[in-house]
Amino acid sequence: MDCIFCKITNKEMPSDVVYEDNKIIAFKDINPKAPVHFLIIPKKHIPSVNHIEIQDKTLIGELILAVQKIAKEKGLKGYKILINVGREGGQIIDHLHLHLIAGSKNTKIQE
Ligand code: 5GP
Ligand code: ZN
Repeated sequence: MDCIFCKITNKEMPSDVVYEDNKIIAFKDINPKAPVHFLIIPKKHIPSVNHIEIQDKTLIGELILAVQKIAKEKGLKGYKILINVGREGGQIIDHLHLHLIAGSKNTKIQE
């Protein structure tokens, strides 16, 4: 499958990993929109929020818990979690990912 984030998961493509466990990997966004900008993804290829199925519900919770762990480890006092869904929602990569964004009080997400 020609998916950049699957390639990052499989280490076929390099990335700056900030967290990893058996189901999840998180890495620095290549084009950060704020001083802190990480992407948290399931290793399983789920194209978008619209493709999440009931059997993924534990995994989705674990993605949020991974964000919590990363934020704590990085000493982030506050942050934003963003998920773009579909082209009209700003999604470019069709592999589910949470953006963890921090480091600027007035961080705004650019389209
Ligand atoms: P989306 O717009 O799909 O929600 O976000 C995709 C994000 O992936 C963008 O912020 C973009 O900068 C990031 N991105 C795209 N290609 C790569 C890559 O090859 N490596 C990394 N680390 N980030 C990428
Ligand atoms: Zn994928």
